[in-house]
Amino acid sequence: MTTNKELLEIRQKETPRGVGTQTAVFADKARNAEIWDVEGNRYIDLGTGIAVVGTGHNHPQVVAAVKTQLERFTHTCFQVAPYDVYVKLAQRLNKAAPGPSPKKTILINTGAEAVENSVKIARSHTGRSGIIAFSGAFHGRTMMGMALTGKVVPYKAGFGPFPAEVFHVPYPIEYHGVSVEDSLSAIETLFRSDVEPSRIAAMIIEPVQGEGGFYPAPAEFLQALRRLCDEHGIVLIVDEVQTGFGRTGTLFASEQAGVEPDLMPVAKSIAGGFPLAGVIGKAEIMDSVAPGGLGSTYGGSPIGCAAGLAVLDVIDGEGLCQKARAIGRQVREWAEKLQAETNCIGDIRTTGAMCAIELVQNGDANCPDPDLTKDIAVHALNAGVILLTCGVRANVIRFLPPMTIEPEVLAEALDVVGDAIRNLAGGVRKAS
Ligand code: PMP
Repeated sequence: MTTNKELLEIRQKETPRGVGTQTAVFADKARNAEIWDVEGNRYIDLGTGIAVVGTGHNHPQVVAAVKTQLERFTHTCFQVAPYDVYVKLAQRLNKAAPGPSPKKTILINTGAEAVENSVKIARSHTGRSGIIAFSGAFHGRTMMGMALTGKVVPYKAGFGPFPAEVFHVPYPIEYHGVSVEDSLSAIETLFRSDVEPSRIAAMIIEPVQGEGGFYPAPAEFLQALRRLCDEHGIVLIVDEVQTGFGRTGTLFASEQAGVEPDLMPVAKSIAGGFPLAGVIGKAEIMDSVAPGGLGSTYGGSPIGCAAGLAVLDVIDGEGLCQKARAIGRQVREWAEKLQAETNCIGDIRTTGAMCAIELVQNGDANCPDPDLTKDIAVHALNAGVILLTCGVRANVIRFLPPMTIEPEVLAEALDVVGDAIRNLAGGVRKAS
């Protein structure tokens, strides 16, 4: 039998350390919310490969669709010999995207590529260069992705120079004392002191900030950005790479704010684990690029598209948006109990099944506890639960189970995490 330790030695010798791995769990098999490693150990997966297998590992309908497509063909390149599953998936995504305007969709490979294409399209449409992004944002690891990302270490440090004309303003986070008014007035200041609005091609925002710490943007903020963009002819890009496909309790998070994005980069949960991404956008904006200006050799792979069509069927057929909301309620109830028992959970955030707890010392929002956060993840892993952390201060635990997780399996995982927190937080009681 190959062991995790043997594989880790090869991994360390043969692959660069720059690709950080959170665990030494070398996966052998995975089904729905469970992963077994090469030694036969079982883990409950609350990370879903960073929000990718929303429909669970190896969903039978996704596997069947992929098998059928495998038998047909695997690659022709959409730019050479186009195929049905690409155009059918585009059609379904256009219909499902928020808002009444006619839409068009380009399919590509990764979230970062979706962001890159969104910026290209916005610049082509407006003839302008500037892009406004938010502090704490994560938009990918390509040059423009990094430029837009609002966290220096480890994402940007040492990798510059980045593309010019990117401006950051604070993302509204009440818990950290940044109100919607603060963020909006920062944009006004930017327009007065740095760049005129008529030079801005696009604003890009995550409707729930992901890597930055699972902070939902208040609906009124997204609505205000929509109005601001309309007023100045700016393209509103809503990055739904992590929030999309039911995760937040609606197919796309923008729906909850009643906002129609101009362009929407999507990826991750779109295809149940197959590398696929897209930009869904208003048709007139999408068509501003001349033929040949967009594309990618592997973009919209037939296998990914077949999987994507099956994922949409599963989301509908199994009511996964409702299930995501139920998961959010289950996690919140568990977290509130734990918060009352200890003084280390500063904040609880649940937008559907995009859930997080923020760990602080003595209940103080200004005293992040990244060490405790890391220790909880390690303890949970040793007890059989894969947990991811995030946050600009590295003090957030995020819960991203598949939306298909059985409630009892989720309860089992939460028990494990609860025990880890109680033990590590030293049972410190809240002053009543
Ligand atoms: N945008 C957001 C909001 C993301 O969360 C991510 C990935 N974490 C990306 C873009 C980049 O996606 P990918 O890793 O597929 O390039």
